[in-house]
Amino acid sequence: MAAWLPILTFHAIDGRRSVISFAPEVFRSGMTKLFEGGYRTLGLLEAVDCMRRDIPFPDRSMVITFDDGFHSVYQEAFPVLQRYGMSATVFLTVGEKAVVKAADRLPSLDMRPMLSWGEIQEMQQNGIAFGAHTLTHPDLTHLPTERIEAEIGKSKAIIEDALSTPVACFAYPYGRFDYRSREIVRQNFACACTDRLALITAHSDPHSLERVDAFYLRSNWLFDMMLTDLFPWYVKVRSIPHHIRRAFQFGPKR
Ligand SMILES: [Zn+2]
Repeated sequence: MAAWLPILTFHAIDGRRSVISFAPEVFRSGMTKLFEGGYRTLGLLEAVDCMRRDIPFPDRSMVITFDDGFHSVYQEAFPVLQRYGMSATVFLTVGEKAVVKAADRLPSLDMRPMLSWGEIQEMQQNGIAFGAHTLTHPDLTHLPTERIEAEIGKSKAIIEDALSTPVACFAYPYGRFDYRSREIVRQNFACACTDRLALITAHSDPHSLERVDAFYLRSNWLFDMMLTDLFPWYVKVRSIPHHIRRAFQFGPKR
């Protein structure tokens, strides 16, 4: 049993040169490596349940998340997850339109093709969970309270309506939150993810969960390291701000 667990964050699974891109071939080989190394996925709510009950996480378990709802999640990641029986949570930015049809796509972010509601429903029927990621992907810390409530509450309602299932998980756009947004999220969801780099433990706050951005796993040897005892140390070192790291001259340079 383990005292920590990684929640991995991916965005787009494509070959572009962008911080939110993750190469499809590295995703495929990385997941194969983790599966063959004994890693299994836990649902986000299952992980939060372990935290709440203060019981250790199963050894070699991880939670997989995708932010924003890019089409490449369906095209590139979903078949790989299916092959290995892996679960994941996809956080959707849904736009303002309350009624959605299967052919409708999510509003475009970052000039990329987005998931259609038909694809979202197909993934839901095959073990993928969906969470809310607001209506328009704003920085919630810059909005008046009523607008924060609408971004959070309405996005949850739209997904629940489209998928006929409760939506219990949220991810803050850009990982950014303040006291007000966290409080509104707490009233609406069982848990919420940030982009603070760390592994979750029994001491994590369910409404500001730490994650490991796939940016820190973007080559094959980094996936190899997830299979070693060095992994928690790697995450810890990477979470130290760059200037402090440089002062001590340790950790990968970039
Ligand atoms: Zn996002």
